[in-house]
Amino acid sequence: MKLIKTLVIFFALATDGFAFVVLIDPGHGGKELGAVSNIKLRNSKGKTYSKKIFEKDLTLVLAKKIKERIDKKFSTYLTRSFDRTVTLEQRAALADTVKADLFISIHFNSSREHKSHGFETYYLDNHQDKAIKKVEAIENKGLEGDNKTINQILIDLVIQKTVPSSKKLANSIHVNLVRNLGKKYKLRDRGIKPGLFYVLALSKRPGVLIECGFLSNPNEIKKLNSNKYQDQFAKSIADGIEKYYSRLPKKELPIF
Ligand SMILES: [Zn+2]
Repeated sequence: MKLIKTLVIFFALATDGFAFVVLIDPGHGGKELGAVSNIKLRNSKGKTYSKKIFEKDLTLVLAKKIKERIDKKFSTYLTRSFDRTVTLEQRAALADTVKADLFISIHFNSSREHKSHGFETYYLDNHQDKAIKKVEAIENKGLEGDNKTINQILIDLVIQKTVPSSKKLANSIHVNLVRNLGKKYKLRDRGIKPGLFYVLALSKRPGVLIECGFLSNPNEIKKLNSNKYQDQFAKSIADGIEKYYSRLPKKELPIF
């Protein structure tokens, strides 16, 4: 009997975290390109050439790198694992299918003001900020038909339920990004902000939407497109998710 008890406790400890489900959402995909940027690159012979970079590709690369880092600890899923069109509703519905505990949406910014740069972390909440409304208008594109306007009462209910956890998650991730990338890559910390992003509202989970940098900034796009930088960025987000999880009150082990 004692052996069985020991085995059960061992199993509970060994699988700690595996019951915790993280859904990572690479923004856009397929015919939804997201932001587009032209960068100048140099080939092996020193000749410069320009290449189009799409937000949908960068979000997928980064989401896969984050998944790789947390896969061993948590049950991790992606809302898409290749270049295909997925509606905001389909992304959010997947959160129910996999019973996600967290929803992490990955995006990149773009602005007519080419000097704009840096990263920002959003959690679902009401606000009156005009600059944030511009970001929402871009990322909320892609809702189907009648769902173009989502019931504000529904959004308020989700906010009520998720805002304390989402803020903690945003903080855990953002602090890491600032510490690991801010100084090293001279990235501007644009802060943790409230935002009304449909994909977060529809997922009904604690979650964040991270705008990982500006494709429209000629200097920043070079960093965003580099493998080394992407690895650092993914690590900071993954570590932030783990930190958030480690601070959650743990379920008690079964008592015999
Ligand atoms: Zn986006």
